Amino acid sequence: MLQQVNGHSSGSDAQGRESLREDLQEFLGGEVPLHQLDDLTKVNPVTLETESAKGTSASVLRCLQARYTADTFYTNAGCTLVALNPFKPVPQLYSPELMREYHAAPQPQKLKPHIFTVGEQTYRNVRSLIEPVNQSIVVSGESGAGKTWTSRCLMKFYAVVAASPTSWESHKIAERIEQRILNSNPVMEAFGNACTLRNNNSSRFGKFIQLQLNRDHQMTGAAIQTYLLEKTRVACQDSTERNFHIFYQVCTRRGLQLPRCRAEMAPGLCRPRLPQNPQLSPPPRLPQICKGASADERLQWHLPEGAAFSWLPNPERTLEEDCFEVTREAMLHLGIDAPTQNNIFQALAGLLHLGNIRFADSGDEAQPCRPMDDGAVRTSALLLRLPEDPLLETLRIRTIRAGRQQQVFRKPCSQAECDTRRDCLAKLVYARLFDWLVSVINSSVCADPASWTTFIGLLDVYGFESFPHNSLEQLCINYANEKLQQHFVAHYLRAQQEEYAVEGLEWSFVNYQDNQTCLDLIEGSPISICSLINEECRLNRPSSAAQLQTRIESALAGSPCLGHNKLSPEPSFIVLHYAGSVRYHTAGLVEKNKDPIPPELTRLLQQSQDPLLKVLFPADPEEKSQEEPSGQSRAPVLTVVSKFKASLEQLLQVLQATTPHYIRCIKPNSQGRAQALHREEVLNQLEACGLVETIHISAAGFPIRVSHRTFVERYASLRRLHPQGSPHAEQATLRALLQDILHTLPALEAATPAAPAGATPAPVHCGRTKV
Ligand code: ATP
Ligand code: MG
Repeated sequence: MLQQVNGHSSGSDAQGRESLREDLQEFLGGEVPLHQLDDLTKVNPVTLETESAKGTSASVLRCLQARYTADTFYTNAGCTLVALNPFKPVPQLYSPELMREYHAAPQPQKLKPHIFTVGEQTYRNVRSLIEPVNQSIVVSGESGAGKTWTSRCLMKFYAVVAASPTSWESHKIAERIEQRILNSNPVMEAFGNACTLRNNNSSRFGKFIQLQLNRDHQMTGAAIQTYLLEKTRVACQDSTERNFHIFYQVCTRRGLQLPRCRAEMAPGLCRPRLPQNPQLSPPPRLPQICKGASADERLQWHLPEGAAFSWLPNPERTLEEDCFEVTREAMLHLGIDAPTQNNIFQALAGLLHLGNIRFADSGDEAQPCRPMDDGAVRTSALLLRLPEDPLLETLRIRTIRAGRQQQVFRKPCSQAECDTRRDCLAKLVYARLFDWLVSVINSSVCADPASWTTFIGLLDVYGFESFPHNSLEQLCINYANEKLQQHFVAHYLRAQQEEYAVEGLEWSFVNYQDNQTCLDLIEGSPISICSLINEECRLNRPSSAAQLQTRIESALAGSPCLGHNKLSPEPSFIVLHYAGSVRYHTAGLVEKNKDPIPPELTRLLQQSQDPLLKVLFPADPEEKSQEEPSGQSRAPVLTVVSKFKASLEQLLQVLQATTPHYIRCIKPNSQGRAQALHREEVLNQLEACGLVETIHISAAGFPIRVSHRTFVERYASLRRLHPQGSPHAEQATLRALLQDILHTLPALEAATPAAPAGATPAPVHCGRTKV
């Protein structure tokens, strides 16, 4: 039955049968002979859909485990596709041939569950002649679960099935747009991904990519929107993690042997400069030897071999993501020419040297701190093309404008303040560089608005997070997940309701409570966690972490989603999210939300002679003097939370105008090992991705929906009936079976048309086409 419903192979079938046998043995308390299983499997299909209907996450887990053991990584679960990370190369699962098979299938949903089924479904929907609707695919899951991999494979799928033949012919003049869109991946990943404890190639930003299609359903362009880049990583990395990949790539020696080529893992990811016709020849494989920076370049960027940089932890840990050549090639395809690339890499080298600047306290409050190594200051200034003395002065001295006359005061910074300003400078440059890259990519791949009519959106965002220490980043991420969950639930309920209407059944989920209460707590008005944190920033008053905790707890005490915070030694508050409760620490929350940038830093960068920095920090002729204001300021503050909220609302508006599809990526184990599924870890993820919640909603309505035909085929053997082919005979068998089930058919019919809202539905309803 695994095979029948989830379209799977003999291996998984055998596993399914075995697991069913175990269940039955447990249930019946004795041996079940294998020959009886054929009938029994018909009656008891072990699929995620029917298992979930029974309402236990344990049974869902068992089903997933059986499939995973049989190398079956995709499973349908209602309107969601569950994707288990294989943690091993499975090239045949992503080959262009398989993509074409799903594309050509009359009914792709009858093939094995796959991300290509979702890809093809969305592609067919946008091509619908009756009502083409924009589509979106929300890919979620925890870090390392496979979201980026999945999004990349989907992009590749569309590049194959929605390629433009006209541009193919003229590819020598204008490179095919699909290839350019694919090239955005290595660039975005080099600058936005990093090796973390949980994933060697962890995306440190959220991404929504809109693939634009013309009237002929060819991909004509794309638009990328990013969310919340983790810019602190530039200047602050855990000792077990790494900085963004690009920093290691710039330092890579030419000829470095990489552990494994990226192209091998995801065929078609890395491309030669001129695209190969996929019909004619397979894409050439990348050499295993990476061409890093040349000796001349490294000399020019002051990156001699063996140089130590404090912002470059674990440089000896070479990854497959360290291939500088792939990034450079991709940048070139996107129109970032060699001189501009040189400026970028030189600026990055400048940041690495900036990170080596250390300050020593002067011992006198009136005197600025001393740099411990003049060389780092000099080299950094040289590479960023900044005047050396103003750089040093900006890092060490704060200017304050105060009084009626707005007099300017200069105050030497403490050692800690100097460090903060240095880090802030690096974050500022890197964040602007990242945004600029996204805008360059967009201008290279975005189609003229008149040339596209529909789009397919791919959302690759961080999943729900809960760590021992959670701060503003987790609050934003979990807030986004609450919003997406609400969107999912609304869509799911709507879809269920529509199906019931088609079947002539009335049922309303009036009793179902969605997560609005939690969202009210986080973002509601007039008072919510966001508004309270923003208020602290606006008032700009000194307030301790404990005071913030008290304010939140007293102002929002009435919310059922605010947990009781009795035991924590540190100031914090608890939010009861749909996916579990999370404790957020209040220390540093307000400061992170303000994300203050001393205006002197921006002004310093505006003095750079570097052509790239001149673009990133254009001089503003209108700019008024911007010294840090002293005392209290009532000016409106654009906080991290308010910016995030605005971009989230914009995203939700786009999603709401599309037909959504959901792919939930699951990480079978946290070590990244193939063939190992840790039940506890997977169960937590099923909860966090809302799958368990979906089971509950499903159970509030009619969780199992089987077509009349399937029902008869499945259960006829119970009465030793053999349905004839005619619809009449099928209906007769159906009625006989239902009669058996409910003892009397009149009772069933009485229950069929309408059940009062809120009441427990009758166990079986017979709809127009489904039971
Ligand atoms: P993060 O939130 O940290 O960005 P993620 O969900 O985007 O994580 P990925 O980077 O997509 O995770 O996947 C992590 C790793 O798992 C990949 O680098 C790859 O090695 C492996 N992986 C994921 N999906 C597959 C797959 N379908 N086949 C083979 N390997 C995979
Ligand atoms: Mg990712």
